[in-house]
Amino acid sequence: VLFPLGLLLAISMVGAVILFSRRRLSPLGELKIGIDRREFIVHYQPIIELKSGACVGAEALVRWQRPDGSIMRPDLFIPLAEESGLILGITDQVIALVIREMKSILATDHNLHIAINLSASDIKSGRALTVLGKALLNSGIQPQQIWLEVTERGFMDIDTTRATIERARALGYTVVIDDFGTGYSSLSYLQEFRLDALKIDKSFIDTVGTDSVTSSVTPHIIGMAKSLKLKIVAEGIETKAQADYLLEQEVEYGQGWLYAKALTSTGFIQYYWHNKLLSSPPNKKPDRNG
Ligand code: C2E
Ligand code: MG
Ligand code: MG
Ligand code: MG
Repeated sequence: VLFPLGLLLAISMVGAVILFSRRRLSPLGELKIGIDRREFIVHYQPIIELKSGACVGAEALVRWQRPDGSIMRPDLFIPLAEESGLILGITDQVIALVIREMKSILATDHNLHIAINLSASDIKSGRALTVLGKALLNSGIQPQQIWLEVTERGFMDIDTTRATIERARALGYTVVIDDFGTGYSSLSYLQEFRLDALKIDKSFIDTVGTDSVTSSVTPHIIGMAKSLKLKIVAEGIETKAQADYLLEQEVEYGQGWLYAKALTSTGFIQYYWHNKLLSSPPNKKPDRNG
């Protein structure tokens, strides 16, 4: 009886020392260790073709799985990672995970896409494109299945940004401007860069059907994106009324809690197959024209 008790005590003491020493680290130190230990995981939020309800892709959203098992949301560590340049290491892990976890469905269904978020440093260094290129080699995944989401926050230096965006598009990736409308000079960026898609920020979707001043701006963003021949994705759709409005405005794609929250990789793969089954021909109701 004594031996296992002693062992238990020893183990809990070692545990306490590890916990204690990690707790003494600065947030930056914690982040460094988290990256070294590859503690980052990716959740996938389905992206829906609004008209058909078909799942056409997912956005990869990083989370930090702490040693205590808790999961930290990106808003709490991405800013620090961006300031410190450590984001490059996180992006590497996100790309590796996305390709590993989604390889088989992406290689099977070339109409499916995964959107990856890039930060300013990612765009500046261009490293993400090299890492992606290597990961995609012999994977059976086509570059246009990878959507790269860039935000205005990421556009520090116009010339470097333009060069990276052009390189990404030349390699076949789909480039999306994320959180559109929340920055200071959204409009000028649409002129500066050639993009493939525009993601309308949740704050605009939130105002649909309200009498907020912003609600009158939303149709103009949609109209502008259309005249520039950009694909449109609406983010943060929570209500049927919002979805109906977007359908009426002929917005092609959307994501939000109305459809699904961000899911684990297995959760997303299940969602994808379930969604495919529901919209497959044998179960489809005949349309009015027969
Ligand atoms: P984002 O790129 O604008 O991602 C959309 C955020 O909105 C996600 O939060 C998503 O979970 C949330 N969302 C989606 N639909 C709904 C909805 O219907 N209602 C509500 N209330 N929220 C919804 P999340 O996962 O916390 O990510 C926050 C931000 O962190 C992202 O905003 C993105 O800017 C950043 N981020 C996430 N993953 C990465 C990454 O791998 N790399 C980089 N650089 N940034 C990332
Ligand atoms: Mg995004
Ligand atoms: Mg967004
Ligand atoms: Mg957003």
